[in-house]
Amino acid sequence: EEEILTKIEVERKCLVLINPVGGTGNALKMFKQVKGIFKAARINAIVKLTEHAGHATELAMELDLKLYEFVVCVGGDGLLSEVVQGLMKRKDWSDAIQLPLGIIPGGSGNGLAKSMIKHVKEEFYPENCAYLIVKGSPQPIDMMTTRNETETFISFLSLAWAFIADVDLDSETYRFLGGLRFTVSAVAKVLSRKRWYGTVSYLPADNASSVSQYQHKDGTVLTPNFLPPIQKAKDSVPKGWKTIKGPFSFFWATSAAYPSSDCYLAPQAHINDGYIYIVVVPENVSLLTQAKLLLSLETGKHVEYPQVQVIKTRAYQLHRDDSEYVSVDGERLSGSTIQVEIHRGLGRIMSL
Ligand code: ADP
Ligand code: MG
Repeated sequence: EEEILTKIEVERKCLVLINPVGGTGNALKMFKQVKGIFKAARINAIVKLTEHAGHATELAMELDLKLYEFVVCVGGDGLLSEVVQGLMKRKDWSDAIQLPLGIIPGGSGNGLAKSMIKHVKEEFYPENCAYLIVKGSPQPIDMMTTRNETETFISFLSLAWAFIADVDLDSETYRFLGGLRFTVSAVAKVLSRKRWYGTVSYLPADNASSVSQYQHKDGTVLTPNFLPPIQKAKDSVPKGWKTIKGPFSFFWATSAAYPSSDCYLAPQAHINDGYIYIVVVPENVSLLTQAKLLLSLETGKHVEYPQVQVIKTRAYQLHRDDSEYVSVDGERLSGSTIQVEIHRGLGRIMSL
């Protein structure tokens, strides 16, 4: 009986990282709005504000894994991405990446939070996201090796090229508009009539019978199973892969249903199904079609357009004629060849 009592009294402790400049700068206010939920759940939340870009990565690299039950990010997907990069840079990455994470949407790009909340059929409010964390338990989340010729990232959400990457990255200019900044930047981009040239190659989902495995021994590097060496990839792709040539009007790949909170890009996707969904328009489309397609992203109706292809895969590569930035979970990546492979359930996130 005594043992039971002590168990009840054992404090749950979590680290809360807040990006004070995420979104329109109201992440701190948002946390104040939901902190009562942590208190009611008897969770002791240790709060830290990030002080500069890259700070969350540094904190995650040095974190004592035994100290907290989980780490909550109050910010955009970019803040969570920084934490993930930090955990994966550690020597003990295979343990570190198992540290459960949580997200409260205090940024302007909050695709992961939206995907999770919609999956449990709740409304997209910060209170509901906090509830998922305090009442939830660690659930697996897929993560992706995402690399160019010189660097490797771990992403957990999306890779946007072409139209969407430009909109995402250009829209930094319109940050003061909050969520609207994407809309303003999109209109400007539709009118520019720009096209993107390159080749997309992928391993069709049916050809990838085994689930992507990652090595799980301390100190070893996470190695992709399906991707060819990046230097050789330009001339040929592995047997069984398929190739689509551009020009592209649209390219956006995601492992979750919502790569951003206002785009229901891949209605069938889920954060731990082991697949990436590439949504692509590999042709020139009229100004009107492009505008209609973009408007239907919000509801997921774009998948009904004949020009839109949805490719389900575990590994793909993008070879571009230019080397403009792509946007990986909202952060920039350049390079003419980019490769991505999914690792099923590599990380964990607090959810129901
Ligand atoms: P948003 O969705 O609005 O982009 P994020 O939380 O994803 O919000 O953060 C965007 C960027 O802000 C990240 O790249 C991160 O490195 C950076 N960042 C985090 N904390 C700070 C800070 N204190 N000052 C400046 N930049 C920061
Ligand atoms: Mg998925």
